[in-house]
Amino acid sequence: MYEDELREILDLIRKHNTWRRSECINLIASENVTSPLVDAVYLSDAMHRYAEGLPFKRFYQGTRYVDELEVKVSSIFAGLFGAKYSDIRPVSGTIANATAFACLAKYGDEAAVLPLPGGAHVSHSRYGILGRLGIKPIELPIIPEDMMVDVDGAVKIIRERSPRMVVLGASVVIFPHPVKEISEAAHEVGAQMVYDAAHVLGLIAGRAYPNPLDDGADAITTSTHKTFPGPQGGAIITNSGEIYEKVSKIVFPVFVSNHHLHRLAALGVASLEMKAFGKEYASQILRNSRRLAEELHARGFKVLGEKWGFTKTHQVLLDVREDGGGARCAEALEKANIIVNKNMLPWDAPSDIENPSGIRIGVQEATRIGMREDDMAEVADFIYRVVKRKEDPSEVRRRVIEFRRNFTKIHYTFDVNVMRIAEEIGSLILC
Ligand SMILES: *Cc1c(COP(=O)(O)O)cnc(C)c1O
Repeated sequence: MYEDELREILDLIRKHNTWRRSECINLIASENVTSPLVDAVYLSDAMHRYAEGLPFKRFYQGTRYVDELEVKVSSIFAGLFGAKYSDIRPVSGTIANATAFACLAKYGDEAAVLPLPGGAHVSHSRYGILGRLGIKPIELPIIPEDMMVDVDGAVKIIRERSPRMVVLGASVVIFPHPVKEISEAAHEVGAQMVYDAAHVLGLIAGRAYPNPLDDGADAITTSTHKTFPGPQGGAIITNSGEIYEKVSKIVFPVFVSNHHLHRLAALGVASLEMKAFGKEYASQILRNSRRLAEELHARGFKVLGEKWGFTKTHQVLLDVREDGGGARCAEALEKANIIVNKNMLPWDAPSDIENPSGIRIGVQEATRIGMREDDMAEVADFIYRVVKRKEDPSEVRRRVIEFRRNFTKIHYTFDVNVMRIAEEIGSLILC
């Protein structure tokens, strides 16, 4: 009967909530938690509605308030990056990339991109949307040990091949990419440059990572839920009226029909949180990642980027080949309630995908729940005990759950009575 299945569904999501929300140290570099205030505005009637097209020119009736919201939020969001325009309708970073790539290149064109083992996202590759749009990737060289872009090599390739488009930005990124040098080379040959800021958007908003638009990128594509603590979604940000016009005609009707309207208010609140607390949040992220890297290095881990201080982003990369490989380590850590992902590193062959060399760690969510430098030493110790000392993960898990009890609140948000606001705005939380 339906009762059993209903019970089963409720039970599974209850278990998930308890485990991932309050018992784990989440170090997945692409995730984050939204604040209770963002959650309150997210669960609105707008999640049931449709609005195809652009504000005030929709294909549906009933959108007068979401139209205003979209215009307002889009302007606040663009403002965070000192930009003139943003299109916040892409429902994910991949859709934002699809739109920007379709805007800036066409079938048969070449695009200079980073290689997958160099940290690029699959959407930049022949296996993802870039390839499916018929755009041919030319790979730019990287320096393996620290995953930096080889500037001279990259400039040379761009000059030789004259691609139509250049894409920087990555899913595995510990140091800023050389946007200035590469965008200059791109512009010399008449190409435009997209910077995919999915991972580092929150750091850019918090002025802890260079803004690619200041360094010559023609457009930023992004997710809104990694270091940027918004609802899951995507966006395109640009100062070019021409790119904006073109993009806005591609998002709809090509890559979204409805664009999940409950995201809009939630993105607006998250943007205001970043306006108010972004600097504090982003600088704490950098202090935390640096400290975590140092503590891991001191415990005998091979941490990438040692020469340059390990990291200038939210990420820390470990080469765990000598500890059994990325898959084995990530699984053992999960048993101890420490959630990370295995990751390819530049020296991995495609066949290493099941058990690559690396572990990718991100500290943005830990930072949001209030962890600071000294807490990173504890976290490093938990990782050390599981991976290096091969202690019983269930024993470490007990300690992790205990430690996690010190962090029950989401920081870098407004000090308001969320339940009262939820009631006032008619949030579906209270229905
Ligand atoms: C995560 C990521 C994306 C894709 O974002 P989704 O919102 O998951 O579709 C795109 N580019 C980069 C560099 C990413 O890391």
